[in-house]
Amino acid sequence: MYHPDLTYYRINLTEDEAIVYLHIKYIGWLDSDHSYHQGFVSNSLTEKLKELLFLDLKNSEEQDKRILKPNEAIFIHGSRTRGIHLCHLCNESSPIEVEPIDLKYYRGSKSMLVGINAVYIPSTKNGEFYFFPTMLHHYITEHNYKPPEEFLNSLQAFNLSKPFNIFKEEEKSYLAVKMPIEEVNSFNPSPELIADLLKHPEKSARLPDVTFEELFSDI
Ligand SMILES: [Zn+2]
Repeated sequence: MYHPDLTYYRINLTEDEAIVYLHIKYIGWLDSDHSYHQGFVSNSLTEKLKELLFLDLKNSEEQDKRILKPNEAIFIHGSRTRGIHLCHLCNESSPIEVEPIDLKYYRGSKSMLVGINAVYIPSTKNGEFYFFPTMLHHYITEHNYKPPEEFLNSLQAFNLSKPFNIFKEEEKSYLAVKMPIEEVNSFNPSPELIADLLKHPEKSARLPDVTFEELFSDI
């Protein structure tokens, strides 16, 4: 599914209305119908992105072999997509895998399928998160895609040697507003709106009985 970079995570309520989350931004939701920014991304950052995918506690090889310990692991896994997504930019018709070669911390050996899930990392900007498909690594290395600088800076800053659990960030990430769907892609929350919702979280639009994890289950 296509989303412009740095637009805010949304759940469509009806054909006309969506709930938009003020602290979660899309990165790398590309497709073949929309142009995307191209440019150089350093090898050290693409390698770090790859390692991030392997260090996720929901990595299937970790689950099989207990390679990572929960209190030492990174938990960034947002959701699984329905079925395997192939790259929309390639003519390639087979699923894409990455190999755990030359990684600093991860000790597993099995290759990993990308295009089956999405993950998120914290932004260096105040309390925000980026939500991106695991295919991002392929888009950068094979299609010359260059994510926005603020994402690359946050990836650079993310510490792979420390445990991190996205679900501990729950409360902040729930803040949301309802709006007409045509306004979603140009929405940019003002500091006043964010401050007001932080002060009065009861004003935040919420889906009833939806946990933070379930919030990301429908992509
Ligand atoms: Zn491709």
